[in-house]
Amino acid sequence: MIENMSKGLNHRHPHIAYLSVGSNLGHKLENCRSGIAALTHSTDIRLIDQSSIYRTDPVDYRDQDWFVNYVVKIETDLDPLSLLKFLKSIEHAAGRVRPAIRFGPRILDLDIILYDDAVLDESTLTIPHPRMHKRRFVLKPICDIDPDIKHPVLQQTMSFLLENLGEAEQGITEYK
Ligand code: AMP
Repeated sequence: MIENMSKGLNHRHPHIAYLSVGSNLGHKLENCRSGIAALTHSTDIRLIDQSSIYRTDPVDYRDQDWFVNYVVKIETDLDPLSLLKFLKSIEHAAGRVRPAIRFGPRILDLDIILYDDAVLDESTLTIPHPRMHKRRFVLKPICDIDPDIKHPVLQQTMSFLLENLGEAEQGITEYK
């Protein structure tokens, strides 16, 4: 224990993470809600806050249906890779299969956007999420929760990144 703490690895210290949740197949909002419910069944995860819910146009691969997207803020005792593994197991349980098309339709998508101020580049996990600063469907909901937090690499706030997004064609409206 003392050895771990001396390396800065206090495993009892909870971490703050922002997760993006999305779906564009079936009952989109229900898929997202079930995914977040599954997340909070874990004793290692507490839901702290949630953004508004958005209806968004697809980006990257555009020939597909619109998405429901939002962001949740959690407190967690899981390390980043364990958290990713857990998110993937929830996606799998929701019926997600690996898509034939990259960025194609998905029943449930759970991504780690930020994890404390961590900067990580592993083969299976990049934090901050590598495309987060270019995506209105991530920045807009994060700004609902914490507009003043800084991207740990770019050192710019979420509200600055949102205001300075170049691409106008990323349609996003509140989901009613
Ligand atoms: P996706 O199609 O969005 O579910 O992402 C596919 C893969 O991206 C996952 O299986 C992860 O290994 C990898 N990945 C890299 N960075 C992240 C991240 N920050 N959050 C979620 N998945 C990530």
